[in-house]
Amino acid sequence: MAHPQPRPNVLAIPAYVAGRPPTVRPGMTAYKLSSNENPYPPLPGVVEAATRAVAVMNRYPDMGSTALYDALAARLEVPVTDLAVATGSVALIYQLVNAFCAPGDEVVYAWRSFEAYPIAVTAAGAESVKVPVTADGRHDLEAMLAAITDRTRIVMVCTPNNPTGPAVTQAELDAFLARVPEHVVAVVDEAYLEFVRMDDAVDGLATYRRHPNVVLFRTFSKAYGLAGFRVGYAVAQEHVASALRAVSLPFGVSAVAQAAAIASLEAEGELLARVDDLVAERDRVVAGLRETGWDVSEPQGNFVWFALGDRTAEFAAAADEAGITVRPFAGEGARVSIGETEGNDRLLEVARAFSA
Ligand code: PMP
Repeated sequence: MAHPQPRPNVLAIPAYVAGRPPTVRPGMTAYKLSSNENPYPPLPGVVEAATRAVAVMNRYPDMGSTALYDALAARLEVPVTDLAVATGSVALIYQLVNAFCAPGDEVVYAWRSFEAYPIAVTAAGAESVKVPVTADGRHDLEAMLAAITDRTRIVMVCTPNNPTGPAVTQAELDAFLARVPEHVVAVVDEAYLEFVRMDDAVDGLATYRRHPNVVLFRTFSKAYGLAGFRVGYAVAQEHVASALRAVSLPFGVSAVAQAAAIASLEAEGELLARVDDLVAERDRVVAGLRETGWDVSEPQGNFVWFALGDRTAEFAAAADEAGITVRPFAGEGARVSIGETEGNDRLLEVARAFSA
């Protein structure tokens, strides 16, 4: 029988495989290290702000997220018109592709990288041009430049790269941007920005001021611990930012999410101190892994990448047995988030036993 058919590209959208929750075993605490979440519970002040917003849930939220825009503009020292707040930065990826790509246009990005990129590109009827990362999980920026064609509308740099971990330097980004055509939008996805510890780290805000085609994607999900509330934002010069706002879902960012994001900006000092602790944990895990002979690429986010190839499933199963859930990418490797100390210790045990 005939039934409605979605556009062919909709049928081609790859599935997003979300991080699994841990398998619960009697007598054993389990840790979810599969979604790059912040292991710390929300701050009481953030919970209070969100709870106050719950009391008016019969009303639509402020569609313009005015107070949140103002708070971000003040914090980042950028004009409000250079911002676009969205339902998680994943929504910004969709919005950008919708705003800038016609069917058949191309989006160049590194691969493997964040799995929402091919989903958003395919959903819009655009074409993904995936440029393999190097053996140590870095963007091959030269190859990405070579992949730009007349049909390219967007290039995306994910730094630090999810799931492989390394970040690009400012010098590398500058050299890259100097050769990206001016009419191509250059995304710098900074979802894990706050975890970067490098002397030559990218200064996204300075970069977007110099480049009318650069857009920064940032999120409250990771360092700020608001993954469950879905708030992200973009910073770009007004011609790009306004296009992102134009295609946003009306009322997409809930009142609760707006309130929690504002409260998180106010509590930034405390939240960033937690990030310091997570970075220290990351460094401890990396040192432990290297001692055991693991050649892990230099992680700059809140996660570690194990390039396991066809041993990926075996490693994920061993981790599961030990009460930690990791994120396997079949045949490629496993990404493991930095979580509670006990979960990180378990990871070290699993990795030790696995390499032996
Ligand atoms: N970009 C990257 C690189 C990510 O890893 C993620 C989350 N996994 C996002 C964007 C999206 O984050 P959110 O939608 O929660 O803001």
